[in-house]
Amino acid sequence: MRLTERASRLARKGHPWFFRDDLEFVEAEGGTLVRVQDKGGRDLGLGFYSDRARNCLRLCGPWAGSGVPGREEFFRHRLLAAVERRQDRLGPNSGVRLVHGEADGLPGLVVDRYGSCVVLQASNTVVERNLDAVVPVLVERLGAQMVLARHDLAVRRLEGLVQEVRLLHGRSIEEVEIEEHGVVHVVRPFSGQKTGFYLDQRPARGAVSQLAKGRRVLDLFAYQGAFSLAALAGGATSALAVDQSGDALAAAEDAARRNELIGLETLRGNAFRLQRKLRDEGLAFDLVILDPPAFAKSRKEVSGAQRGYRDLNRMSLRLLSPGGTLVTCSCSHHLTPPMFEDILRQAAAGLPFRTVLRQRIMAGPDHPVWVSLPESEYLKVLMLERVD
Ligand code: SAH
Repeated sequence: MRLTERASRLARKGHPWFFRDDLEFVEAEGGTLVRVQDKGGRDLGLGFYSDRARNCLRLCGPWAGSGVPGREEFFRHRLLAAVERRQDRLGPNSGVRLVHGEADGLPGLVVDRYGSCVVLQASNTVVERNLDAVVPVLVERLGAQMVLARHDLAVRRLEGLVQEVRLLHGRSIEEVEIEEHGVVHVVRPFSGQKTGFYLDQRPARGAVSQLAKGRRVLDLFAYQGAFSLAALAGGATSALAVDQSGDALAAAEDAARRNELIGLETLRGNAFRLQRKLRDEGLAFDLVILDPPAFAKSRKEVSGAQRGYRDLNRMSLRLLSPGGTLVTCSCSHHLTPPMFEDILRQAAAGLPFRTVLRQRIMAGPDHPVWVSLPESEYLKVLMLERVD
């Protein structure tokens, strides 16, 4: 596959994604691994070619030689290298992201491991067609008792891939326990959100646990209360977990019991409205966690999303007691770190106290960012403090 002059210039600057118009010469079937060259014939390594996608060519890094390797060889090599990089996190009860898409040279593949269970998501045709080369490597390397595909993933529609949850290997395991910062969480691979757990927030939960002692905590968009549990384990006096999902909150209460943590309360409903209600009741919290879903799912939605983030953050700041801390997150790819910090500046403007930035946190090292693809730094977490 050869790129046009214009696309070759972009490739030289490090850009890794290309559209149909960027391809000058194609001698490959859709849904396959290809060798890519720039206009001048220089090697750009391998790529995933999906003829059905708008974003039809995704580079996946250098590969020795000049041809296209066999698919088994390619996937085995990439998968084992990704697992090797997380070697220190493969404890029997750990939760870890083993493959994080392009950052691991495997665009469109996510693999999360929860103890003996592996949950994967394929979001393009190349990965989908090669799952028979992926699964055996995971089973052999990890001794997985279950490999589950959580293919109920909206982006799959872009390439006409079916929506399904499918057992690829082993037996159905409905619940698996993992441990994070000394807290046991129950992951439900079939029914939980995403692959079952938000592994990317591990560093932020560690930070919350560290500063929770003696604090009253509000956990907005709590899912299964992972932040609340981390805070209670760190010595928080109480934690109020808010989410729209009753099942998620029931799981939070169950996990609090399993961990013998006291002080958890849950509140089901719309966090936008409940936040205002708490404020109207005159309540204040010493630590607020704000972890909403991605409001900007596309570039078009960014300006509406900015308003949503600003209003939520402003209200969260107003719920802080003097000296209180806000841990605020955005997981939208389309909102860059500077854009998110700008929103916080606007949210803090005009409040009767100063707001200082204490710490920037990102996803854990098992979610690396490929520097060629800044969007892969999707998770932004800021720790802010109210100063009176
Ligand atoms: N903090 C969680 C992850 C949050 S994911 C953790 O560490 O695991 C976002 C959550 O927001 C989901 O659980 C979803 O059910 C919830 N949610 C989405 N929109 C909501 C709304 N308007 N009000 C309340 N909860 C909402």
